[in-house]
Amino acid sequence: MHRKVPVNSFLLGGNERKYLTECVDTGWISGEGPFIEKFETSFSKFIGRRFATTVANGSAALDIAIQAVGISPGDEVIMPTFTIISPALSVVRVGGVPVLVDSDSRSYNMNVDEIERKITNKTKAIIMVHIYGLPVEVDKILALAEKYQLKVIEDAAEMHAQTYKGKMCGTFGHVSIFSFYANKLITSGEGGMVLTDDPEIDKTCRRLKNLAFHPDKPRFVHEEIGYNYRMTNMQAALGLAQLEQVETFLQRKRGMGKYYNTALQFLVPHGYQLPLPANADAENIYWVYPLVAPTEEEKNRAVDYLAKRGIGTRPFFWCMHEQPLFINMNLFAGESYPESEKLARRGFYIPSGVALAEEDLETVVKTLRDIYE
Ligand SMILES: *Cc1c(COP(=O)(O)O)cnc(C)c1O
Repeated sequence: MHRKVPVNSFLLGGNERKYLTECVDTGWISGEGPFIEKFETSFSKFIGRRFATTVANGSAALDIAIQAVGISPGDEVIMPTFTIISPALSVVRVGGVPVLVDSDSRSYNMNVDEIERKITNKTKAIIMVHIYGLPVEVDKILALAEKYQLKVIEDAAEMHAQTYKGKMCGTFGHVSIFSFYANKLITSGEGGMVLTDDPEIDKTCRRLKNLAFHPDKPRFVHEEIGYNYRMTNMQAALGLAQLEQVETFLQRKRGMGKYYNTALQFLVPHGYQLPLPANADAENIYWVYPLVAPTEEEKNRAVDYLAKRGIGTRPFFWCMHEQPLFINMNLFAGESYPESEKLARRGFYIPSGVALAEEDLETVVKTLRDIYE
C-alpha cells in the first residue's frame, strides 16, 4: 500500500526555523517586531507595488481593502459568484451589495464580458479574483473601471508569482490583496497582505488593521471602526523565509501541473476537463490542479474512490448565489449562473502541494487509472 497523499502540503525547509528562533530569543512575538517590516518591504519589492501592509489573513485583507476604497451602505460591488466567500462577506459587512457574474468555463475565472450589463448607477467597485492558477482578463476590467469611474480591488490570494501579460498579479487596481494561508504558494500559517500604490489607501489600511488608532490623535482616542487584524512578528518571520523560496515553489507547482497534464490525458475521453496549460495572457501556475468531471455523480465516485485509498481532494468553491447565508438575506433571488453551478458540482482538485514527491503524484495518477481503465 502506498502512503497517504494529502491534498495540500508545504515545505518549511529554508530559514523558517532560524527566523522563528530569533523571534523567541528576542521576545518579538506580537504584532510588532523587525520581521513585519522586513516581510512587507520584501513582498512589496517582489510584487512591484509601492506599499504593502501585513494583516492577519487574506479575508481580513479584503475587509480593510473594501473599506479603504470607500465602499459604504448601498454600494454595489461586482464580483464572481464562483470564488471563496471572503470578498462577498467583506462587502456585506459594510452594508454593500454583492453583484455577481458567471465564470468562464475553461479558465474558471469571472466572465468579464458579463460585467458591463451589471453596472448600474449604484455600482462602486469591481473585485477581480484570479482562480486556481490563470489570471483574469485584467485589461477589460480596468477599461470598464476607467469608463464608469469604478474602484478595482484585486484578489490575488492564489496568485503569488503569477503574471498577466508579463506584469505581476497583485499590481492591478486601486488595491490588491494576498493570503498566506497554509495552502497558498507561500505561507505564514495564517496571514495576508494589502498592497497599493496610493499613499492614502496605505495609510487607511494601516490604521484600520490596528484598531484605527489615529496617528494624529492622542492614544486611545478613536474616530473610526477599526479591527485588530495585525500579523504577528512570528508569522512575518515564516512569511519572509517562505518568500525567499518562492521561485523553487513555483517551479515545483509548474512541474506538477505539467506532469499531471500529460499523465491524466486518459481522463479526457471519459468526459473530464483538465486545466488549461496557458491562456493568451499567462502560463498556468497550477496553484491547485483542478479537474472537472463529466457529471456530479462521476465526481463523487472519483472522490470517494480516492479517499478510500488515502488520497485527499477538495471540492471546488460553492457559488455565492447558492449560499444559504445570502439566500436568507434575500440576496440573488432567482439568479442563476450555469457555468459556475456546473463547476461547483463537478469540480474537485487533486494533491498538488509543494512537498509532494514524484512517487505521490504517480500514486494519484495510478489510482485515477484504476477507476477508468
Ligand atoms: C484563500 C483565499 C482568500 C482568503 O484568504 P484567508 O487567508 O484564508 O482568509 C481570499 N480569496 C481567495 C481567492 C482565496 O483563495
